Amino acid sequence: MEMSPFLVLLGPPGSGKGTQAIVLSEQLKLPHVNVGEMFREAIRAETPVGVMAKQYLDKGELVPDAVVIRLVGETLAQAGFAKGFVLDGFPRTLLQAEELENLLKSDGRRVEHAVSLKVTEDRVLERLTLRKVCTQCGAVYHEKYSPPKVQNQCDRCPGALSTRGDDNPEVVEKRLRVYEREFRPIIDFYKKKKLLREIDGNQSPEQVTVQILKQVKGG
Ligand code: AMP
Repeated sequence: MEMSPFLVLLGPPGSGKGTQAIVLSEQLKLPHVNVGEMFREAIRAETPVGVMAKQYLDKGELVPDAVVIRLVGETLAQAGFAKGFVLDGFPRTLLQAEELENLLKSDGRRVEHAVSLKVTEDRVLERLTLRKVCTQCGAVYHEKYSPPKVQNQCDRCPGALSTRGDDNPEVVEKRLRVYEREFRPIIDFYKKKKLLREIDGNQSPEQVTVQILKQVKGG
């Protein structure tokens, strides 16, 4: 069974991209990139990119394409990403999807599966309301459905958990509208290339992982 390890995860906020990216990267032994987390780290470290990006994250808007494309391009050019990756949070615009293709083409790589996690809006809101995220590794918890073993402590690393500033109702609303505005052309882009794998993201995280692996492994 041939493995096709260049994956992108698509879906609205709260669809489970972050959770699946971590599990898939462990199971497939691939590095994963969480673009939102890269920005949150840059904001915490107060780097120039962080200072610039903060205004967009705070409002739930997308960071300008040029900045994101450069950041992702630099990351994917690193040796560890030569044989595969799980990309979470990119592409989020059609231009990003096109640029990702160009970026990979230059050294003979290409996206092999665009996994779209489809989740109903009420489920998204329910998940984001009590979401907690590890400030070190980005692992995702939910106070009711998947709490950590020790309150506010990550199960996977020594990191502390916190609520994301952009998980408040007004910003969530904005992020969902931004997603609705941008997602259709990206879905069509991958559909035309026969790379789109649509998954019911309303299922449990374990069930979603099984579905994704089935599609990726062609089973
Ligand atoms: P996430 O952690 O994936 O929900 O992303 C958090 C925030 O980071 C988003 O609301 C955007 O402000 C920014 N961001 C993440 N990925 C991208 C991207 N591909 N393009 C533009 N902005 C992004």
